Amino acid sequence: MKESLSALKKAARELYLLEHTQAVISWDMETNMPEAGNEERSDQLALLEGIMHRKLTSPEIGRLLSALGADDDKPEGKGDFKIEDKAFIRELYRKYSRASRLPESLVTEMARQTGLSHNNWVSARKNADFSLFEKSLSRIIELTREKAEKIGYKDHPYDALLDEYEPYMTAKDVAGVFGPLGEKLADLTGRIAAAKQVDTSFIQKPYLSELQDRFGRRVIEKMSYPGGRGRLDISAHPFTTTLGTNDVRITTRYDENLVLSGLFSNIHECGHALYELGIGENIQGNILANGVSLGIHESQSRFWENMMGRSMPFWEHFYPEFQKTFSEQLDGIPLEAFYKAVNRVNPSFIRVEADEVTYSLHVILRFELEKAMLSGELEVSSLPDAWNARMKDLLGIVPADDAEGVLQDVHWSAGLVGYFPTYALGNLYAAQFEKNMRIALPGMDDDVRAGEFKHILGWLRENIHQHGMIYPASELCRRVTGEDLNPSYFTDYLEKKYGEVYGLRGN
Ligand code: ZN
Repeated sequence: MKESLSALKKAARELYLLEHTQAVISWDMETNMPEAGNEERSDQLALLEGIMHRKLTSPEIGRLLSALGADDDKPEGKGDFKIEDKAFIRELYRKYSRASRLPESLVTEMARQTGLSHNNWVSARKNADFSLFEKSLSRIIELTREKAEKIGYKDHPYDALLDEYEPYMTAKDVAGVFGPLGEKLADLTGRIAAAKQVDTSFIQKPYLSELQDRFGRRVIEKMSYPGGRGRLDISAHPFTTTLGTNDVRITTRYDENLVLSGLFSNIHECGHALYELGIGENIQGNILANGVSLGIHESQSRFWENMMGRSMPFWEHFYPEFQKTFSEQLDGIPLEAFYKAVNRVNPSFIRVEADEVTYSLHVILRFELEKAMLSGELEVSSLPDAWNARMKDLLGIVPADDAEGVLQDVHWSAGLVGYFPTYALGNLYAAQFEKNMRIALPGMDDDVRAGEFKHILGWLRENIHQHGMIYPASELCRRVTGEDLNPSYFTDYLEKKYGEVYGLRGN
């Protein structure tokens, strides 16, 4: 068995290296590549994708996994190995069995369809006309259903899709959490809408991009990024990517008219990067050296972005410098007013621009609709009406057209169904973790006020980052917090914070 394990590690190491090679050329494509390079670059990426798929589903890997006793009932195998090795076998078995259950014809057809769909989605969105995208989406849903059937599931086809992004979680688990969450958030949003609104006029002025960049870099340096192991570049959509154990890069974008957007992107992506940079040495260089799920990954970015970056102690430290940097826009604006503007709640149509309170409602809506489309309860042709009706229930507003409604996100056109829940799960995990961090670090707010993040980062590293994929998300949550994922930590956090910002009664 020992020999099989080391042979398996060797094969998986190649996959790991190929993944990072792919990350290098994707990063270049998003940040530096001239537009004319696109065609060959797509071929390069497709070639690598094919090589990786063949490697992952090779008979050799199958043989080694079964020699180790890994199967659906015992994915970690039957050997008497240490915990990292069992987790390694479990995760490789998961990847292998998902990939080998999908016939190549389906994978190719999906790739072809998403290429076509993307263009249709772009023109549908431009013309605010869902009918231009309807056929493509119907086909994608059909193929996605087929994919779920091939992969297999117990209760709902959604489970097979969600598992790709949030391993071991089911649609039923998500619904159990999102149900009460949606009600509480809709109620809080309603009470905030009825309260006295906050002034944001001073952050709506233009702010020079060079100065935004200078300030944004100062903030992430304080968070201890990049420390010689990363870099920040500009791209159309901000992202984090791991090119190697000691090379985790982030990107951002600056808009002169949206000063907070660039700053919070820097902080958000830095949160993701710190996670990957904090992976323990015992698992560096193998497939466990990764975030355990997208929900846990998002908990790291959102913890830094919202619970740190939109907190009063954070701005007690940074506001004097920020105000000095942008004295023209912020002269005479007190800290308190600025803090409130940073935390303005405003039900709006576009998910990516949503505030901390309403954001998860956008996600709940997408989860419900995706699930209904997959099970056939909702016809794709009725999607815009269903979208608008649910938008009214949850956020109290109805989009004027499909562009600011059902067509706003790229995900479905790219075949990413089952992905959205992870965004809201991140908020929930973040709040539950933060609650426990506060108990362990009673001086946390004073640290932040002093611009000192080393204890906070130390806690995250010790409790979350170092483990990589060793523990599945639900187990990690129980280890860190002593209980299962519980959305009331997030809603309690919001009630307290926004009760103060908006002077709600009972707070
Ligand atoms: Zn993120």
